[in-house]
Amino acid sequence: MDDCIFCKIAKGQIPCTKVYEDEYTFAFKDINPQAKQHILIIPKEHILTGLNDVNDDNSYIIGKLFYAAKIVSEMLGIDKSGVRIINNTGKDAHQSVQHFHIHVLGGEDMGEGLV
Ligand code: 5GP
Ligand code: ZN
Repeated sequence: MDDCIFCKIAKGQIPCTKVYEDEYTFAFKDINPQAKQHILIIPKEHILTGLNDVNDDNSYIIGKLFYAAKIVSEMLGIDKSGVRIINNTGKDAHQSVQHFHIHVLGGEDMGEGLV
């Protein structure tokens, strides 16, 4: 995906504050944090836009993203106090970047709203 901002970030073509990467995933700080710690974790390859694209063949990548979330939470020291993981898919969820990603939020009490 030539015009995808997250593909460009994963390839180092757009600067970011990188937190972690492995063979499958890339993690970086959200530019507009919604909590004290707010990390985006993406597949390196643009194989998914949103939840609707997940199928039997590519669903392993969701596990890789959550495994990266666990590692990142430990690295940031927020694993014990708790994290909230969110995926926005589609219009009603206000997904703004069409490259599958999970938000990992933590580092403070996030209250009982959503969700
Ligand atoms: P969505 O609304 O699609 O679930 O989330 C997209 C997220 O990407 C937003 O939280 C937004 O702040 C973040 N974002 C958009 N552009 C950039 C960017 O260029 N750099 C970084 N680090 N985050 C971005
Ligand atoms: Zn992409």
